[in-house]
Amino acid sequence: MLSKVILESNIVQSVKLLDNADNILITSHISPDGDAIGSSLGLFHMLKNLGKSVKVMVPNRYPSFFNWMPGIENVIVMEENKAESVKIFKESDLIFCLDYNSFDRVNGMKPLLETSKSKIILIDHHLNPNIKADVIISHPNISSTSELVFRFLCRMGYYPEITLETAQCIYTGMMTDTGGFTYNSNDPEIYTIIKLLLEKGVDKDDIYRKVFNTYSESRLRMLGYCLNKMEILNDCNTALITLTLDEQKQFNYSIGDTEGFVNIPLQIENINRSVFLREDKDKIKLSFRSQGDIPVNTIAELFGGGGHKNAAGGESYTSMENTILKLKEILQTN
Ligand code: 5GP
Ligand code: MN
Repeated sequence: MLSKVILESNIVQSVKLLDNADNILITSHISPDGDAIGSSLGLFHMLKNLGKSVKVMVPNRYPSFFNWMPGIENVIVMEENKAESVKIFKESDLIFCLDYNSFDRVNGMKPLLETSKSKIILIDHHLNPNIKADVIISHPNISSTSELVFRFLCRMGYYPEITLETAQCIYTGMMTDTGGFTYNSNDPEIYTIIKLLLEKGVDKDDIYRKVFNTYSESRLRMLGYCLNKMEILNDCNTALITLTLDEQKQFNYSIGDTEGFVNIPLQIENINRSVFLREDKDKIKLSFRSQGDIPVNTIAELFGGGGHKNAAGGESYTSMENTILKLKEILQTN
C-alpha cells in the first residue's frame, strides 16, 4: 500500500545490525522537538517489545509539553547526566541517529559519537547528511523522521507489532514537523500512514490538544508582547521578531515557550518569510520560516545552520543589534 521509499539494501543491512545488537542507543538532536522525541520513542517502544535493551538520549532538555508522551521518562538528557551518558555510549553496540544529519547538531554528544566504535544507523530527512554511518536512510522529501521510522518498521515486517504507544509517538512527530499538517504535507501517503496509526487506536485530536493547547498563561502573554513589537520589512515581504534574555525573564520563560512563534507572522497577507531571533546565554538563535518556493535554509546557512526549504535555523555569536543588521542586509539581497 505504501511506496518502498527506503532502499531494500538498507532494510536488509539494518535487520542484520539489529540481529547482532544487544545494547541499542537511540540519539536525537539538540533542542529536541516533536519529531526528535516522537521518532526516538516510537523506535524505542518497538525495539523494547522485540526484547532488546534500548536507551534514548538527547543532548539537552525537551519542552514540557512532551511530558505526556509514553516512555518519556526513559529519555536521558545528556547535559544533566554526563557520567551515565558516557557509560551508555561505551556499552552500546548499535546507535541510531534520528532526525539529524551532522554531529554538529548534537552538542555534547558529538565527541562520544565521533569516538564510538558502535555500528550506526542514520534515519533522517535533512539535506546533505555528513555522518559516517553503516546504514544511511536519508530522505529529505519525506516530511518527518517519524514517518521514516514508521516506514522502516513496516518494511521490516513489524506493522502488526506496532503498539498504541509507538503509534502515538510516530503521530506526534509527523504532526509537529508539518505544523499540524499545514505545511510540507501534500504527500497522499502521509494520510495513508495516519489511517494506519488511527487503526492502532491513536486519538489524534487528543494529541493535538496535549502538544498545542497546554501552554502557560505567561507563554501566551509573551507571544502577545512579541507580536506587538514585530517588525515588518515590506520591501522584502519578511517579518522579524526578537526576544532578549531580559524580556524572557519578564515572562517567566521556560524551554519550549517560544516554539511556534516564528510561524505566526506568515498569517499576514504578503508576508512569505518570517524570522525569530531569541537571545540565549551564549548566542542568538535564529529561526526561519517561509512559504511555497521561497527558501530559507540558504539564509540559515549564512548563520552556520541549515534545515529545510521552508523551516530552518542558525546561530549568531555577536550582539542582537549586529545580528539584526547582518540579517537585514542578507534579507534585502536574498
Ligand atoms: P526551529 O526553527 O524549529 O528551531 O528549527 C527548524 C528546523 O531548522 C529544524 O528542524 C532543523 O532542521 C533546522 N535547524 C534549526 N536550527 C539549526 C541549526 O542551528 N543548525 C542546523 N543545521 N539546522 C538547524
Ligand atoms: Mn524532523
